[in-house]
Amino acid sequence: MIKKDILSLDIQQLEMVFDELSERKFRAKQVFSWLHRKRVFDFNEMTDLSKELRQKLSDNFTVQLPLAEKKLVSRKDGTIKYLFRLNDGMYVETVMMEYEYGTTICLSTQVGCKMGCRFCASAIAGYERDLMPSEVLGQIYAAENDSGRKISGIVLMGIGEPLDNYRNVMKAMELISSPEGTGLSLRHVTLSTCGVVPKIYELADRRTGITLSISLHCPDNEGRSEIMPINRTYNVNELIRAAEYYVRTTGRRVTFEYAVIDNVNSDKQSAGRLAQLIKGINCHVNLIPVNAVKERDYRSSRRSAERFREYLESMNINATVRRTLGSDIEAACGQLRRERKDESRGE
Ligand code: SAH
Repeated sequence: MIKKDILSLDIQQLEMVFDELSERKFRAKQVFSWLHRKRVFDFNEMTDLSKELRQKLSDNFTVQLPLAEKKLVSRKDGTIKYLFRLNDGMYVETVMMEYEYGTTICLSTQVGCKMGCRFCASAIAGYERDLMPSEVLGQIYAAENDSGRKISGIVLMGIGEPLDNYRNVMKAMELISSPEGTGLSLRHVTLSTCGVVPKIYELADRRTGITLSISLHCPDNEGRSEIMPINRTYNVNELIRAAEYYVRTTGRRVTFEYAVIDNVNSDKQSAGRLAQLIKGINCHVNLIPVNAVKERDYRSSRRSAERFREYLESMNINATVRRTLGSDIEAACGQLRRERKDESRGE
């Protein structure tokens, strides 16, 4: 018999399974709290359950937390980067960042990515599979447990495209916000997407409180299609319309991410087109000096990002250059997983 992945189930689903196992329904809530609030993952330690029930749980369910295969800690700012090994031997990366107002965790949502953005290390390494809700949450539980830190915010900006694994990611967010579990408000969650337009509408209509961050990176179709293949399916205009819908429906400001790349999108004209495109939208622009990835010769610097910010400012567009955390342990996102993959090929 295949054991069920218990951390992916919400209380209602647990109640249904408990019913099938001829267990009382209220036990579902109790077990859910042991797992998601008290973070006790060994059924034998769930002391207010009968021995029989604990046995039934062990017979029918598994708890699979990711294992830290590698951990890098920044001496500069305390950022921690984990390479987690999943149950089937696949790897994802997770980063914990310290801010004045608390700890934020950056989660992966897929093993690899299908989106193929030219500048992104995760895309180069290729797509393997979606993460289960338990594997999205498991990154939080394992990182909190290992570091002794408690997170106060989540950014869905690690490996993968969250809107390409919409169901499981939303399920994980529902579980983390459950009052019987961690009870984290989804207002403290930011989801970053390369622009899966229909899912942006769905997310808006769910009114979760999640902040939307859009990886725009280029203000015109020709240039954007070149660096981001998703643009051939959902173009810049459709994406901007979806962003406007998100703001209108949720009342929340959106963020546009813009990785400044020398000789690609860093000139004054690009800034002008960007300003024109997002004028009047309740938004913020986040500029990132592109991280060099070894297969591509995309380059940038803080200085070009600063210059780009000044262009935008002169056109009355607010933008900030993203603070780089963990620069001493830096490997562009997705690099650790790739290195690990390459090593195991050579074994
Ligand atoms: N798939 C989602 C989230 C993962 S990537 C998305 O595309 O938004 C998180 C952010 O890092 C995105 O804005 C992405 O475009 C950016 N990014 C990826 N590779 C980068 C690189 N080499 N330098 C700078 N930013 C990069």
